[in-house]
Amino acid sequence: KNSDGNYMVSLIEGDGIGPEISQSVKDIYSAAKVPITWESVDVTPRLKDGRTVIPDESIESIKRNYVALKGPLATPIGKGHVSLNLTLRRTFNLFANVRPCRSIEGYKTPYDNVDTVLIRENTEGEYSGIEHVVVDGVVQSIKLITRQASERVLRYAFQYARDINKKKVRVVHKATIMKMSDGLFLSTARNVAKDFPDIEFDAELLDNACLKITTNPGPYADKVLVMPNLYGDILSDMCAGLIGGLGLTPSGNIGDECSIFEAVHGSAPDIAGKALANPTALLLSSIMMLRHMGLTSHAEQIEKAIFATLAEGKALTGDLGGKAKTHEYAAAIISHL
Ligand code: NAD
Repeated sequence: KNSDGNYMVSLIEGDGIGPEISQSVKDIYSAAKVPITWESVDVTPRLKDGRTVIPDESIESIKRNYVALKGPLATPIGKGHVSLNLTLRRTFNLFANVRPCRSIEGYKTPYDNVDTVLIRENTEGEYSGIEHVVVDGVVQSIKLITRQASERVLRYAFQYARDINKKKVRVVHKATIMKMSDGLFLSTARNVAKDFPDIEFDAELLDNACLKITTNPGPYADKVLVMPNLYGDILSDMCAGLIGGLGLTPSGNIGDECSIFEAVHGSAPDIAGKALANPTALLLSSIMMLRHMGLTSHAEQIEKAIFATLAEGKALTGDLGGKAKTHEYAAAIISHL
């Protein structure tokens, strides 16, 4: 907290539509009198000793404040740039990616009963980045699974299920084929489950999970799904599709100390600067952040106003079939607070 009693939160506005959707969050938060002071940080990469790095001041800000809200970052095109998102993930050891997927009233999709949470291991697995050429025409890519990283994300998943009152944790895996790597993830889960006797634990094969959840998401509503990196990447976007796409999907990247909450979509260069962007995903990410910080009543108040505005359908942005500008949609949310 700073001297006036407000919590300091680092804000990475991001590129493209980032500043516009961040403005909506700021406007709605000041109208709702959320006790947060935003500290704007610039994560534009700089060259240091021949490597692209995030400016030290921004890293210091996030370390000091423990929480950050992040808009989309455009990945610079060209050689030698590591994706900034990956850099942030590595810098802060953001080991769990949390993606709640809940149907939104007022936005019609084939199902109106989606309500699940996906937790993706964020640091290793298929994305360990260990690849090499064996001989010309033959490459090998290593999927790294460690008990330590598996246990960390699994423990988080069980704790998260308990915190949000979900009754079950389900591991999604492919241990029938990847007997050792997914096998280790699964056996670690069985051990961690013993420490959470109040939470039911089971496991499902990835292919089966895809089939079942797109056929009927209903039975997944009491569950938190947790899985290795690649499966989480794919399954979480698939589930985002079930609720209306990336424009509505929030996420949280949880680390040992610091956590970064962000919209799942990119910087939408095609509509940037035109006040056409939908700030819902960033707003819902900020609601996850408020809950993470324990500011539950503010989270509920703003969340209700967002859902009421969407359900009313009078001030929707273009991507949801409406005509409202970004700030008009934000104003409608403020009127519902
Ligand atoms: P994108 O998500 O930016 O855009 C895809 C489509 O969805 C576009 O038509 C866009 O207009 C629309 N869209 C996205 N967000 C919207 C919103 N909030 N409101 C209304 N419409 C929205 O994906 P892209 O075009 O593939 O990527 C653009 C840039 O964003 C790239 O540089 C990419 O690397 C970056 N990116 C960043 C992140 C991140 O920071 N987490 C994620 C994905 C992509």
